[in-house]
Amino acid sequence: MMEPFLVAGGGIGGLGTALALARAGHRVRVFERATEFREIGAGIQLGPNVFAMFDRLGVTEAMTQEAAFPKALIMRDAVGGHEVTRIPLEGMRDRYGQPYAVIHRGDMLEVLHRACLAMPNLISMETGRTVAGFQQDEAGVSVQFEESVPTARGAALIGCDGLWSKVRGQLLGDGPPVVSGHIAYRAVLTMDQVPAGIPRDVVQLWAGPKLHLVHYPLRRGELMNLVAVFHSDHYAEGWDQAGDTALLWSHFEGTRPEVRAMLEKIETWRFWVLCDRDPCRGWVQGRVALLGDAAHPMLQYLAQGANMALEDAVCLADQLGVHGGDIPAAFRAYEELRVLRAGRVQTVARIFGEIYHAAGVRAELRDQWLAGRDPVQARESMAWLHTPQTWPGAPESRKAG
Ligand SMILES: Cc1cc2nc3c(=O)[nH]c(=O)nc-3n(C[C@H](O)[C@H](O)[C@H](O)COP(=O)(O)OP(=O)(O)OC[C@H]3O[C@@H](n4cnc5c(N)ncnc54)[C@H](O)[C@@H]3O)c2cc1C
Repeated sequence: MMEPFLVAGGGIGGLGTALALARAGHRVRVFERATEFREIGAGIQLGPNVFAMFDRLGVTEAMTQEAAFPKALIMRDAVGGHEVTRIPLEGMRDRYGQPYAVIHRGDMLEVLHRACLAMPNLISMETGRTVAGFQQDEAGVSVQFEESVPTARGAALIGCDGLWSKVRGQLLGDGPPVVSGHIAYRAVLTMDQVPAGIPRDVVQLWAGPKLHLVHYPLRRGELMNLVAVFHSDHYAEGWDQAGDTALLWSHFEGTRPEVRAMLEKIETWRFWVLCDRDPCRGWVQGRVALLGDAAHPMLQYLAQGANMALEDAVCLADQLGVHGGDIPAAFRAYEELRVLRAGRVQTVARIFGEIYHAAGVRAELRDQWLAGRDPVQARESMAWLHTPQTWPGAPESRKAG
């Protein structure tokens, strides 16, 4: 029997990968450095493209039960207040065969975790295991841990260990990620705390000079997710620390009363320093592959990092099916199938950051350009992103072939 696949990291990418591999009949060991499988706070937008992956992973129903289904994506000017553009979401199912939704990160991870727990013969999930390094040879990969526990041996290693990936460090050695200078403060309100006049059933983004606020419902509409982003070199790097409220206010001072009314409701913010990397090849060497943020970290302006990680997971498992026992060939095919797709999202996400944060004449140009589109044109401008993907080995491609 083939040795198990080893997965470094039990986030959305790691658990999605474990599930995709197990559903294809492979044994998997997931190593997560935290003591439990947990995502804290904040929301994740789910495009029709990731719902197609949920179908493949057998989790669509469970995700649907936890998600909220907003009616539109709306962009407003954070200073003038006018609507800049809107994409109606109710037609997504007709257009793509899949909906658009939003979900609490914790709920999304929990659904994946439960689905992995339901396959105990194929998936083992080991917490308190920090992958420190690996060695590979012709037959497999050995993984060492920071904790004093035995080395693990497997047929291959998939590095799903996120933005600061250890596996990437050893594989590519390309240094730390790019610090964007953009800070995201995030918080969650219960729906009864949301000020009157704020729509509760849409994803609304208030775009302003070097800042934006986005809010949308979570958990079947019980919660409201808030993410406030601004440019600042105040924090060099950080993750999930308490944000300085005075700093936030100094940036949002000139924004609309509706925006400030939302911000005023929050007592405690957590913040992220947003980072990404330039797209590149080299995610794969022999029996080791990178996946999700470890391979292609992106700014969150297209709300697609987790979506991309799950597309990666399903694609990688499909390539193992196409290439039989030849793991290096399957991994090479996976990288080739995914590198331009993920690279496009990395690249366009930066451009969307510029669009959201435009000031002066640039903001006027943005408004003129975006307001010139009808709702169908607005929706179609994102078709490249939202169209469910297929590749060799996927059931759709088998049908087509
Ligand atoms: C403000 C913000 C908003 C976002 N909004 C969206 C959105 O709306 N939609 C969307 O699709 N994406 C969104 N994203 C992006 C999304 O959060 C990430 O792309 C996604 O979480 C990547 O998943 P991952 O599994 O690759 O990495 P991670 O989520 O970072 O998971 C990595 C896991 O590996 C573990 N780990 C790390 N190092 C080790 C090690 N050495 N050994 C073992 N375990 C290790 C970590 O503890 C963690 O559990 C957003 C991101 C931000 C910052």
